[in-house]
Amino acid sequence: MLRGSCLCGGVRYEVAGPLASALNCHCSMCRKAHGAAFRSRAGVRSSDFRWTQGEDLVTWYETSPGTHRGFCRVCGAKLLSRFDFEPKWHGLPLGALDDDPGVRPGQHVFVSCKAPWYEITDSLPQHQEWPPK
Ligand SMILES: [Zn+2]
Ligand SMILES: [Zn+2]
Repeated sequence: MLRGSCLCGGVRYEVAGPLASALNCHCSMCRKAHGAAFRSRAGVRSSDFRWTQGEDLVTWYETSPGTHRGFCRVCGAKLLSRFDFEPKWHGLPLGALDDDPGVRPGQHVFVSCKAPWYEITDSLPQHQEWPPK
């Protein structure tokens, strides 16, 4: 069981299953949403995810049609993304995890949108947008 929480501690969640396809996303939406060079995220089955506290504090912002990013309305921490077109999977920002998920980001995506002030210094694969399927 993996646990995560927001910055103020008002929202908590649990993940009961393995995370999938961890990666670093450099797209401009992720950069702005997180105020960071990139967002580290993984996929989580929606059936494995549950809020354990403070779900009423989670506010959803639709960043692109059908993609909703959930954040704590008290502290602003990014907690989860859900997709109208893929309801079986959620996107989980790794930064809010309290436990080690075991997985590590394996690639960089949307490097075409990378911040000019950030240099990727690891040897992970880089993709201009999404990796080829
Ligand atoms: Zn919070
Ligand atoms: Zn992104």
